[in-house]
Amino acid sequence: MTELSPLTTDPDQTASTPDEDKKIDLLGLTADALAEVIKAEGLPAFRARQIWRWVWRHGVTEFSDMTDLGKSVREVLASKFIISRPLVTSRQVSNDGTIKWLLKFPDGNEAETVYIPEDDRGTLCISSQVGCTLTCSFCHTGTQKLVRNLTVAEITGQIMLAMDELGEWPATHEGRKLTNIVLMGMGEPLFNYDNVADAMRITMSNEGIGLSKRRITLSTSGVVPEIFKTGEDLGVNLAISLHAVRDDLRNDLVPINRKYPLEVLVDACRNYPGLSNARRITWEYVMLNGVNDSDDDARALIKLIKGIPSKINLIPFNPWPGSAYVCSSNTRIDRFAKIVMNAGYASPVRTPRGQDILAACGQLKSASERARRQSTRI
Ligand code: SAH
Ligand code: SF4
Repeated sequence: MTELSPLTTDPDQTASTPDEDKKIDLLGLTADALAEVIKAEGLPAFRARQIWRWVWRHGVTEFSDMTDLGKSVREVLASKFIISRPLVTSRQVSNDGTIKWLLKFPDGNEAETVYIPEDDRGTLCISSQVGCTLTCSFCHTGTQKLVRNLTVAEITGQIMLAMDELGEWPATHEGRKLTNIVLMGMGEPLFNYDNVADAMRITMSNEGIGLSKRRITLSTSGVVPEIFKTGEDLGVNLAISLHAVRDDLRNDLVPINRKYPLEVLVDACRNYPGLSNARRITWEYVMLNGVNDSDDDARALIKLIKGIPSKINLIPFNPWPGSAYVCSSNTRIDRFAKIVMNAGYASPVRTPRGQDILAACGQLKSASERARRQSTRI
């Protein structure tokens, strides 16, 4: 688990003094938590609201830029707190405009964030864990051994970094480029529920970034016990990595199915709070040649989700080095989509984005892991 190079020999690592390490990172605090620490400093409650707006609406990273705070207050704050940004070790831009950032955290762990520009929106795909404890057989992230939950600050930091780069401050400005967030990067968000939930609460705050819950989609492989809570606490859109409509096949493709089989999963989705025709479950379905892409599969899919407000997202399989599957042909995908559409479901086929920089779904995996694996193969 410790194959990564030690931090002390890493020239990329920003130096931080022991004092800096003791400071509280405001990117990790919800509004309530910020109010508490500000109160503990003996400052009035309105200070917390001012600071919140500087951090989350204006993207400020230095207390000296908080111009409506007196100098002495700013000095106290700077001695106790920091406003971090993740360290970027690589930034790649695809020929389709997709941007992928590789981030390195102080413990040497890495995660990836991807921005996908489209005509009518800009979607940021964020990671919730380093790696993933699950081992879906078609997913690159699932082969990464190193796993830990990202902290609240590491999750919100991905959004702040993208907003910095896209020139999104103040967050209320016209023509925002980052309009949607999907929790579809590395990791299983519902295995890191508390941190993901706090990070989304921060992102939705109207005094800050103000992203609507309708513009946030959380994708899960099917961690059933957390599904209801996600709808009730956060109200974000839910996407389910379905990929198979028979338990025997789904046990292989998405092994968490052995714990929470299809019937249990579909039931949890049926009871997802706030479902309506305007707020549907997205069923993600990766198209694997000769594995899950038959006409019968399409028909069984329709039957499985009957009565649940749904859309189906067919995802062409994105290959990665060493992957055992082949993507279904375009004619097969079209035929599958047609069956689903004839049953009355929207079933957009997801256009792979950023494939040339391994930024497409399921291709994410940190560069150091890739490099390490390549070197051990030789
Ligand atoms: N762990 C969560 C979220 C991250 S995965 C989940 O599984 O839902 C985001 C989406 O990408 C999931 O639907 C996942 O099944 C899909 N995916 C993974 N590997 C893929 C690949 N190689 N090609 C296409 N989609 C893939
Ligand atoms: Fe983890 Fe999702 Fe990949 Fe499965 S598809 S290994 S749950 S990141």
